[in-house]
Amino acid sequence: MESSANSAAGPEAPVVSNFIRDMIKDDMKTGKWGGKVVTRFPPEPNGYLHIGHAKAICIDFGMAKEFGGECHLRFDDTNPSKEEDEYINSIKCDVNWLGFDWGPHLYFASDYFGKMYEYAVRLIKAGKAYVDDLTAEQIREYRGTLTEPGRESPYRNRSVDENMELFEGMRDGKFAEGARVLRAKIDMAHPNMNMRDPVMYRIMNASHHRTGDTWKIYPMYDWAHGLEDSAEGVTHSLCTLEFEAHRPLYDWFLAQLDDIHHPQQTEFARLNLTYTVMSKRKLLQLVREGRVSGWDDPRMPTISGLRRRGYTPESIRNFAERIGVAKRDSTVDLALLEFCLREDLNKTCKRVMAVLNPLKVVIENYPEGQVEELDAVNNPEDESMGTRKVPFSRVIYIERDDFMEDPPKKFFRLAPGREVRLRYAYFITCKDVIKDDAGNITELRCVYDPQTKGGDSPDGRSPKATLHWVSARHAIGAEVRIYENLFTKENPDEAEEGGTFLDNINPGSLKIITACKLEPSLSDAKAGEKYQFERLAYFCADKDSLPEKLIFNRTVTLKDAWVKIQKRG
Ligand code: ATP
Ligand code: MG
Repeated sequence: MESSANSAAGPEAPVVSNFIRDMIKDDMKTGKWGGKVVTRFPPEPNGYLHIGHAKAICIDFGMAKEFGGECHLRFDDTNPSKEEDEYINSIKCDVNWLGFDWGPHLYFASDYFGKMYEYAVRLIKAGKAYVDDLTAEQIREYRGTLTEPGRESPYRNRSVDENMELFEGMRDGKFAEGARVLRAKIDMAHPNMNMRDPVMYRIMNASHHRTGDTWKIYPMYDWAHGLEDSAEGVTHSLCTLEFEAHRPLYDWFLAQLDDIHHPQQTEFARLNLTYTVMSKRKLLQLVREGRVSGWDDPRMPTISGLRRRGYTPESIRNFAERIGVAKRDSTVDLALLEFCLREDLNKTCKRVMAVLNPLKVVIENYPEGQVEELDAVNNPEDESMGTRKVPFSRVIYIERDDFMEDPPKKFFRLAPGREVRLRYAYFITCKDVIKDDAGNITELRCVYDPQTKGGDSPDGRSPKATLHWVSARHAIGAEVRIYENLFTKENPDEAEEGGTFLDNINPGSLKIITACKLEPSLSDAKAGEKYQFERLAYFCADKDSLPEKLIFNRTVTLKDAWVKIQKRG
């Protein structure tokens, strides 16, 4: 077996201290786990991973990597009715894409069903577990409340022999679904409700994606989870805060089976993001009801949606490092995630010219049939990305927004009689505005100054605006998908009485523009390739793109809301 390499590609984010990092450092110093760090990421394969999972992945895999340990990918498939291979494959793909590798450590909770059964038998024989015939509803009633103790089940004091016989009967399919459960015998008056004789096994007539029809009983998450960690020799079991109140139960189970490995669980706050729902149940609902095109709709906070939108693994890892790890739940501004994305794209993306809403411009004094190949810089932030040629000719397109017939004071772009610079090309002056019968502007007639090639004038005059443009003869058509937040409310769950998060869906979250004109260097753009369309935004070629019909997703705008938020701060 190769050693586990949990590697994240690319440059490291700055290392800041947090309580998990500090704890592990301490454990390394004291030799608590013999200098070992074993963590795990344990998704339930019942949906696609989202940005919240990405945070957990960065912590679980990130900590293991930082301390030379290993991180396991374990599918928590204790619930037989929900697992689907599609989810398993997408989860593996997403973890890899984020830059992490579980090496040989790919596990399934169902791998341990046999062991869990054995352990349950040990508990029964020790008088620490019993078969209960109460219905699910009765069990709930008997459980008590936060202020009142629970009541003991009349079946609580069955003999070991009777319990063994009934439990084996459960296993062998002798009883109907829901007829009996196995419960831990702890304390029905315990202040922690999780300790009031929790259910360990239930009868289910369901086929499991890996164990088939072998089992008629399936372990509950709370019984299974600690045993899975134990079986794998996990040292630091890092999870979200909602499991904090379950820790005493995991510890109790492990203590009863006193000769087995006992991991340390540590909880951290979940990630919540503004304008975003994060629960898999809600994301599934969006998909099932066709509110989005699928799990990887670029408006979804899923890793596959973010990837399709144009997010990079580096930007997500940097985001995770920047938000850090806390003990208290909070909501992070979506603008911070976009800031991290922009920061990365700014460094790595090629600049190109594209006109989303074209207005035809005829340059009257430019020779008909002439084409010049002009030099354009690929990335002013990175000289090593070089230059490219962009064709210029007599008829070009500019952005409709870049012209106003009757410009207000602060509008410096093109207007009748005014001169502007065309990026990498010439200065042009607008001479005439052509309209159709309805009064819509259909074309501008301009003249150019041949002395200004490349964007400078020998007499030192400098127009106030520089516009992007595309040569009409050379332009390639494209569809562009403009995305806005999927929800209109910062907290999408904040709905009117009787309403749901679905009421807060933004009806304008997707706008499709079909007649865009791109510079010809984009003709062979492959799905996933990212560009800055100059002066507009960052865009990413979509997987629906065909050579004869290019489609681009707007990844993120150039304007930075985060910087503003911080300044306001
Ligand atoms: P959801 O509540 O979205 O359905 P889940 O917690 O049921 O998610 P799991 O598949 O059980 O999803 O999660 C796998 C791991 O990811 C768990 O350890 C969980 O703590 C962590 N995780 C899930 N959501 C978040 C989040 N928003 N922030 C940080 N970690 C998360
Ligand atoms: Mg869960």
